[in-house]
Order: sequence, then structure tokens, then C-alpha cells
Amino acid sequence: MNQPRTVTVLGATGSIGHSTLDLIERNPDRYQVMALTAHRNVKELAAAAKRTKAKRAVIADESLYSALKEALAGTDVEAAAGPTALVEAAAMGADWTMAAIIGCAGLKPTLAAIRAGKTVALANKEALVSAGALMIEAVKNHGTILLPVDSEHNAIFQCFPHNNPEYVRRIIITASGGPFRKTPLEDMAKVTPEQAVRHPNWSMGAKISVDSATMMNKGLELIEAYHLFKVPLDTFEILVHPQSVIHSMVEYRDGSILAQIGSPDMRTPIGHTLAWPKRMETPSESLDFAKLRQMDFEAPDYQRFPALSLAVHSLKAGGPRPAVMNAANEIAVAAFLERKIGFLDIAKIVEKTLEYYTPPAPSSLEDVFAIDSEARLQAMNLMESLPA
Ligand code: NAD
Ligand code: MG
Repeated sequence: MNQPRTVTVLGATGSIGHSTLDLIERNPDRYQVMALTAHRNVKELAAAAKRTKAKRAVIADESLYSALKEALAGTDVEAAAGPTALVEAAAMGADWTMAAIIGCAGLKPTLAAIRAGKTVALANKEALVSAGALMIEAVKNHGTILLPVDSEHNAIFQCFPHNNPEYVRRIIITASGGPFRKTPLEDMAKVTPEQAVRHPNWSMGAKISVDSATMMNKGLELIEAYHLFKVPLDTFEILVHPQSVIHSMVEYRDGSILAQIGSPDMRTPIGHTLAWPKRMETPSESLDFAKLRQMDFEAPDYQRFPALSLAVHSLKAGGPRPAVMNAANEIAVAAFLERKIGFLDIAKIVEKTLEYYTPPAPSSLEDVFAIDSEARLQAMNLMESLPA
């Protein structure tokens, strides 16, 4: 019998973390959990660590160490806390690591997992947006296998001619268009966090749901795809496809187009990365084409979704722009979720931050963190000056 593979889940209490643990727990003989991490949810982290007999559980918020220790008393699970412990857990060298922390907060642990040189399933797109070149360099230097979890990138990965990238004519990244694709423009200023997180097809964490509503998510994904597939920028096309069953497509030079299609359930791409290069059974529903009946497509509306243009321009300008944009967006989305700013203010804050803060290009990880921190401060200051 094969030895079980060791697995670590960074961000085990989130939406991607839940789906990942669901697949792992359906196959207890095949996977052995090394470490699970979370930000503040001690109760859920401890419960998941006990259920999966994890070796270690790490809570990022250091002040919650004793609570975690107490919750794990009488078990064999080691408790740890704080940002350093997070990086150490990622560096333990599990055979397979899911990087599913949200935001730039995931950059250090994700990079630590990459440097361990095994297989990393990447969901944490913000890390790649802020520090793409450095991350891809680390993947190369450490011989790491990086497998994309984001449904679009996983789809492209499945269709892409990895040994012959020159065969590719076009990569079509699909987008649902989010919940406000048809909302009258004058109503968009008034949408609430509840409306914004109600995605028509996917069930996801709050931040990425808001990013989908502004379409910043597609912008982040374009940047993510650019780093992952290393083809010229003009190869990519964004296409709105409201049913979210074609997860993305690759067109070859001869005109053939390969699409990866399936029900919108993240357990399909996660399962693809978990079993890779094999395939595993997942509980994702088989797509019923007769019931679906039609697939629609339209070009993205850059007027309605200015965040998408900001991302395209940031990628073209390169240097520090994607990191500044990502940091400002994280601040603005958090403020929107806390009802401090309106929905349309999100893109305005990002645009203004990009306008006012123009640092030199980062050449090290320290530079990226400095840019990220300063851009957050600038975005917060700009928010204060917004007309009420
Ligand atoms: P989520 O908010 O549901 O979960 C985030 C996880 O990260 C939680 O476990 C949380 O405890 C942890 N976390 C948050 N802040 C942290 C911090 N400062 N330090 C350490 N840990 C922290 O998010 P999600 O929807 O699961 O998304 C996770 C990542 O996957 C994001 O980068 C997102 O863009 C990407 N992604 C998600 C989906 C999806 O369907 N949810 C799809 C594609 C890509
Ligand atoms: Mg996606």
C-alpha cells in the first residue's frame, strides 16, 4: 500500500480551506495532515485539527495562543501562534500544501511553502499579484511544483501545452460578471455588502466575493495568469460568461480551442491539484448540459467595472503598480464590508492610491512588504478625504 501523502492547509478555516479539508477527510487513508492554520477562529481550527489528527495547529493572532493551547489540551496536536509560527508550519515540508490565506498576509507563508520545494496548490492570488516575479523565481530555484487552484487558472493549466507554449494563440479567461452585471448604474452606488457578497454562481469568502462584484477579481486573475503561464500579455482575453461553467479556454495556433468545463464547485480544481498528476473522485455534481441549455458570452464592460481597467493598466505598467493596487484594494474592500465607504468608492480609492503613490519597482521581498504597507496607509488616508 502507498504511504499517505502529508498535507498542510494554510487558511484552513476559510472557504477554500473548508473545501480542501472536505476532500482530505473523505480520503483518510491517502492523506495525513501535517499542519492547519487560521487567523483568529480558535474553535474551528482546534476542531479541524482534532478531527484530522493534525500534527500542528497554528493561529496567526499571537494573543490567542493560550486559547488554542487550551482547546487542544489532552490531544497530540501541537499548538503554535504568531506570524513566525505560521511561516514555520509552511516550511515543515508537507508533500502538498494548500496556500489559501486571503490577501498579502499569505505572502510569507506561501513563499515558505514554495521554498520547501514540494508541491504547492496556490489559491492565494493576492500574493502572486504583489510579488509575482519573486514567487515564480523561488518556484524555479527550489524545483517546486506550483499548481493553480483558482478555477480559471486551473482550467488553463489543464488545457495548456506545457512543453510547447509557442503553440498558444490566445488564452480566454472567463468571468461571471458578478451580481451587478445588469444593475442600473445609478443603483450601484447604493449596493450593500450583503448584496455584493451574494455571488450568482460561486460560494466564496467575503473579500473575493466583493472583488467579483467590482470585477477586480478578474483583474487580479489576469495578473495571476500572466505570472503563471509566462505568455505575452496580448495573448489574454477576458470574456464574460454568466453561467460560469466554462472555467477558461486555450486557443492553439491552428484555431483549436480547448475548454475546461464543469459545475461551479471549487472542489473540482482543488481535487485536481490534490491528486495531480492522477485524478480523484470528488463530490462535485456532474454538469447537466440539457438542463443548462445555453451558454452566453459578452465582452466585459470596462465603464461599469473601472477596477478591471485599473488592473489591466497596473499589469501593463508593471514595477510596483500591481502591489500598490492590491494593497489599496484590500483596504477599500475591508472598509466597504465594514460599511465605511460605498461600493463605487472601492475603485476610486484604488485609482487615487495608484495616482498618488508611485514608489520605485521592488527588487526584494522586503521592498514588496514596504510598498504594501505604505500603499495601505495611503489608501486609508485617501478614504478619510472622501466626500461623505
Ligand atoms: P476566506 O476569507 O474564506 O478565508 C481566508 C483564510 O485565511 C481563513 O482561514 C483565515 O483564517 C485566513 N486568514 C485571513 N487573514 C489572515 C491573516 N492575516 N493571517 C493568517 N491567516 C489569515 O477566503 P477564501 O475565499 O477561502 O479565499 C482564500 C484565497 O483563495 C484568496 O486569496 C482568494 O482570492 C482565493 N480564491 C478563493 C476562491 C473561493 O472560491 N473562495 C476561489 C478562487 C481563489
Ligand atoms: Mg477565479
